[in-house]
Amino acid sequence: MKQFTGIGQTFEHLRKSAESGLSIGFVPTMGALHDGHLNLIRRSKQENDLTVCSIFVNPIQFNNKEDLAKYPRTLERDSLLLEELGCDIVFVPEADEMYPESEPVDLNLDFGMLDKVMEGKFRPGHFNGVAIVVKKLFDIVQPTRAYFGKKDFQQLAVIKYLVKTLNLPVEIVPCETVRDPDGLAMSSRNTRLSASDRNLAPGIYKVLQKVRMEAGNISVNELLTWAVRKIEEHPGFRVEYLEIADNETLMPVENWDNLARDVAFVAVFVGDVRLIDNIELF
Ligand code: AMP
Repeated sequence: MKQFTGIGQTFEHLRKSAESGLSIGFVPTMGALHDGHLNLIRRSKQENDLTVCSIFVNPIQFNNKEDLAKYPRTLERDSLLLEELGCDIVFVPEADEMYPESEPVDLNLDFGMLDKVMEGKFRPGHFNGVAIVVKKLFDIVQPTRAYFGKKDFQQLAVIKYLVKTLNLPVEIVPCETVRDPDGLAMSSRNTRLSASDRNLAPGIYKVLQKVRMEAGNISVNELLTWAVRKIEEHPGFRVEYLEIADNETLMPVENWDNLARDVAFVAVFVGDVRLIDNIELF
């Protein structure tokens, strides 16, 4: 496996690969890799000649300085995992080169409501930061396909929109959420949970599963009220939002008229760790 830091070097290497007809699969990550990430790498390897993984804790998508400072950084271990899986290139850019001071950091893209609801509402500027880094990374890596997890369903919707609206020549491949055996969605943030919170955290997905079972049986409002109460029964759990929304527009729904398109989304503070999860209701 090759490790690149420089943007120019990475661009040139991959440009030559693409010119010689190789397909490039790309998995952008912020590191602290777990099986959710590794699954994306496996999928990319199955479908492409070359697989590139980027590891970059993108400062401009954090609206909370403490969250950025506490984000786990485990580059050595990540590299070993990627090597074992047969990833071809790991790209680890420097923040200074990704964001030279002179450059204005704004795409000026209108995402409609996609970046204003749920995560967008509670993490202002977050998706602007995500869209900017993904656009930059796509320009550098020039991937044939890029792999994203449904764990970050709203992010996936924003990226699909970015690709469509800018006509970017890349296929976005959504991949299923990978969970621990007890149902907790894998996340780099899980390592920050206390032992007792880690034991209770799978309760979030259990509630989402129950929401799926009851969807269509009782009103959306009643179901949401029940679900919030159930999650907050655990001491120290606070629901930031719990919504049922359309899988494309992400607009909240008030009835079950389009159940086949509905997704339940949740963000929960477990102590000071913020976890997100979602479930498709069909
Ligand atoms: P991150 O390092 O958190 O920015 O995530 C990098 C990529 O991995 C994103 O496309 C995430 O959606 C995806 N990802 C993170 N956790 C999971 C998971 N548990 N299952 C599937 N994909 C995931």
